[in-house]
Amino acid sequence: MSKQSFRQAGPCHASKATIETFAADFARKVGYRAGGELEPVVGQLGGKIIYQTFADLSRSLDASIRIFGDRNFEIYLPDYTSAERDRFSIAHEIGHYILHYPLASEPMIARRFGSTRVEWEANWFAAGFLMPEAAFRKQFARHPGNIAGVARHFRVSTAAATARAKALGLL
Ligand SMILES: [Zn+2]
Repeated sequence: MSKQSFRQAGPCHASKATIETFAADFARKVGYRAGGELEPVVGQLGGKIIYQTFADLSRSLDASIRIFGDRNFEIYLPDYTSAERDRFSIAHEIGHYILHYPLASEPMIARRFGSTRVEWEANWFAAGFLMPEAAFRKQFARHPGNIAGVARHFRVSTAAATARAKALGLL
């Protein structure tokens, strides 16, 4: 087996608003609806999701992505985290594939090394993909004082919905 080298993902430097809008448009384009399954989206893009045990993840306890080429990538997830957290992680890793891979089109890897620009960008993508602004504002108004209800609608963690509400100035 030949040894392949992977470039570390670098940021695209688009603004938060641009990335969120782009992610919401992208979600529509791939037929994703609020609270829907993410595995078919990954499959549609040519990727695979691989759940790893604690032992497999010895180098990193977080989700990561390895991109071998066009329509050929693997998303690694720890198998002991909640479904809601996994969903945010999957959308985040899709963000790396959509935002960062096309810049270089070379084998690429993205792991979490603290709060870097490239990680923020993937988080903005995930927030815009899973909780598009207009839909989020509507659900927030429909669930007064009930962020858990908003979170359930989008099938994200309460922490993710709370962060989204704060970012939109709702909390
Ligand atoms: Zn990342």
